[in-house]
Amino acid sequence: MNWLTDYVKPKLSSLVNRKEPPSDLWTKCGCGERTLYVSDLKENLNVCSYCDFHMGMDVNSRLKSLFDNENYELIEVPFENNDPLKFKDLKKYTDRMKAAQKKTDQKDAAILAKGEIGSTKVVVFILDFNFMGGSMGQFVGEAFKIGCQNAVNLNCPFISVASSGGARMQEGIVSLMQLPKTVAAVNMLDQNKIPYVSVLTHPTTGGVSASFAMLGDIIIAEKGSMIGFAGKRVIEETIKEQLPEDFQTAEYLLEHGMVDMVVHRKELNQTLSKVLSFVKK
Ligand SMILES: [Zn+2]
Repeated sequence: MNWLTDYVKPKLSSLVNRKEPPSDLWTKCGCGERTLYVSDLKENLNVCSYCDFHMGMDVNSRLKSLFDNENYELIEVPFENNDPLKFKDLKKYTDRMKAAQKKTDQKDAAILAKGEIGSTKVVVFILDFNFMGGSMGQFVGEAFKIGCQNAVNLNCPFISVASSGGARMQEGIVSLMQLPKTVAAVNMLDQNKIPYVSVLTHPTTGGVSASFAMLGDIIIAEKGSMIGFAGKRVIEETIKEQLPEDFQTAEYLLEHGMVDMVVHRKELNQTLSKVLSFVKK
């Protein structure tokens, strides 16, 4: 028996290769105060049980939480790689896309589904903040348009759930063209008398807030979400004035008539059910 290889080496390697506890068991709350147990957080729809901060939600959990009995059907959106500028900053845009696809298991930042909420048939469009900050490029604009067309064809209300940093700058002017495109799609809903409910979640900013997100017939914001166009600091520096502490929060926007309702995430399905019962034909 070799004492070195049979006894000392395993002892040493067990010390060196000691397993770290998995890092995805815990996460920090957006308030920065608390460390939360991931499974508890998921159970609580990603709302911090200490400060009630509504943290980001992955699209699958969002879909499950929205539809009756977690029951829905995805609507296919044709995907093509779109890199009109052959854009590259620190990384190539195509590489950023690949990394985001791997991370989220989604093709791009938008997802479409149909099902029932409060027994009303609906088409739902969701932006995934985990996918490049929920930014809107060609795919996202197209998905929104297809969603609206589906709602028209099915003659049912359309719901969008936004969380976004804005237009996808890597696609240059093509991303900006999604603003009028989504606005035109909302107009199409209007012409066909299809109700459009826009749900704003944390954060909804930039080109998304400057287009379809603020055009809902009814606009619902999740409690505490940050909603605005440019950031608070940028505005303060431009207008040389100090802005109130709660500027660009859902509650501030409600007070100033920009949104119709502020809702706790746990009550979102119920609130939507009620709203839909008012607007359905
Ligand atoms: Zn918290």
